Amino acid sequence: METREIFPLGEPLSKHWFIGKAYLYPLVARDNNNCFSAGTVTFEPGARTNWHTHPKGQVLIVIEGNGFYQEQGKIAQPIKKGDVVNIPENVIHWHGASALGKMVHITITNYSGDENVTWLNPVTDEEFYEVNQ
Ligand code: MN
Repeated sequence: METREIFPLGEPLSKHWFIGKAYLYPLVARDNNNCFSAGTVTFEPGARTNWHTHPKGQVLIVIEGNGFYQEQGKIAQPIKKGDVVNIPENVIHWHGASALGKMVHITITNYSGDENVTWLNPVTDEEFYEVNQ
């Protein structure tokens, strides 16, 4: 059966902070009532964020496919459609698709002042394929 995506693909995310093809479709902008932004991020197979932190944490809601969430120094956690990840503040982590399949998640990212993310180094191929073995 053919399936339809819930949200459009959106626009490509920066090569500076993502490896592979990743796209953002914004859902909710920060405003007077919401001290967060929300969006849908689509990762093609093998795509992932750089290592990064959020000053006030982040929630991921996986709506399609399979991927990984990993905190620095910990075993990578496989994530799949229906999983929810509650990421604490200032924890170094990455998230992305598996090597063989795409993954789509909604992000809800809280702000501290005008910041909601601090980008760090790329997740190397060695780091990525270690979790995909
Ligand atoms: Mn994150």
